[in-house]
Amino acid sequence: MAAYLDYQSSKPVDPRVIDAMVPYLTTSFGNPSSLHTTGEEAREALEESRETIAGFINADAKDIIFTSGATEANNLALIGFALRNKDKGNHIVTTETEHISIHNIAKYLAKAGFTVTKIPVDEFGKVSVDDLAGSITDETILVSVGYASNEIGTVQAIAEIGETCREKEIAFHSDAVAAGGLLPMDVERDNLSLVSLSSNDIYGPKGLGVLYRKKGVKLIPQVIGGGQEFGLRSGTENIAGIVGMAEAVRIMRQEMAGEVERFKSIRDQLIENILGKIPRSYLNGHPTERLPNNAHFRFDGVEGESLLLTLNARGVMGSTGSACSSKTLEPSHTLLSLGLTHEQAHGSLELTCGRFNKQGDVDTVLEVLPGILERLRKLSPLYDGD
Ligand code: PMP
Repeated sequence: MAAYLDYQSSKPVDPRVIDAMVPYLTTSFGNPSSLHTTGEEAREALEESRETIAGFINADAKDIIFTSGATEANNLALIGFALRNKDKGNHIVTTETEHISIHNIAKYLAKAGFTVTKIPVDEFGKVSVDDLAGSITDETILVSVGYASNEIGTVQAIAEIGETCREKEIAFHSDAVAAGGLLPMDVERDNLSLVSLSSNDIYGPKGLGVLYRKKGVKLIPQVIGGGQEFGLRSGTENIAGIVGMAEAVRIMRQEMAGEVERFKSIRDQLIENILGKIPRSYLNGHPTERLPNNAHFRFDGVEGESLLLTLNARGVMGSTGSACSSKTLEPSHTLLSLGLTHEQAHGSLELTCGRFNKQGDVDTVLEVLPGILERLRKLSPLYDGD
């Protein structure tokens, strides 16, 4: 059996989620905007799901907007907010380790006339709250910091950053996709104005996400049409997907505590054994403040893609860089932001575990990885010995 350790790139939909979705693809197929009984069933399912998902982050149901995924939620949050609030200022603060969608949205906003400051991170990928506070000017309208890195797993001091934004009365957005189902979230505690979440990251279907938008935070819609989702995201709602995401939330709330402990055990076995047994291997990301399911390594003298393909041939699936940006040959901007050279960044391997991993998967990795690295290093002109 193959060992799938790439849960950060994609997760299977939980079978219980599929069961919850089926009626909304078949018998209860109505459009929630229709006035008849079938439409009403869909409407009720939509509003119940909104309540469930809101509860997961301690939000009000009226502040949940369904989108086609986290990319769209990030677009609505940043572009929608910046354009709507440009009379208040033109400065946006974000960080160097954000997801590629935030990076590219920031570039777009810079071209549209906004000034964007990207706060550097330390060698572990952590943002300094003092640096962030120091970058805020009279023109700053929005701060956007990812809850945790989808690549190296470093978790940011979101509550402290939220406190800084509260003091300075600046809106605070977080792309919380990578932390979904792994860390408890609370929009009140963290003073969050905008939060992006994705359904697949909690074992729901792909192509569905959520933007939490605190009451009173003004946005310009990015998808214009029939006025669904409080006029902020038009288009008929994906009811089956939404019901599925709500079911995924219900399951997660019941199982999260136990699951996180299991993930930590897998993560720590991988980290301890790999760093302990493989010479010139290093951990990327923060040693302790990291996602419970994330183990991210760097190996001297090895090229990440060859390592991935060789591992794949031996039944281990991992990732190098981020699946979202694997279409470019550039090393990951997150790894470069840690101060790594291109060569070091290219020698990385990300292993992320999830709900359906077994102990046997860890054993498989530990069995095959040392031999593969030894062989690749023998062939590598970049490797000069242990
Ligand atoms: N943000 C983060 C942190 C992600 O990991 C991803 C990809 N899962 C996205 C945004 C984009 O999500 P989607 O592909 O659902 O639009």
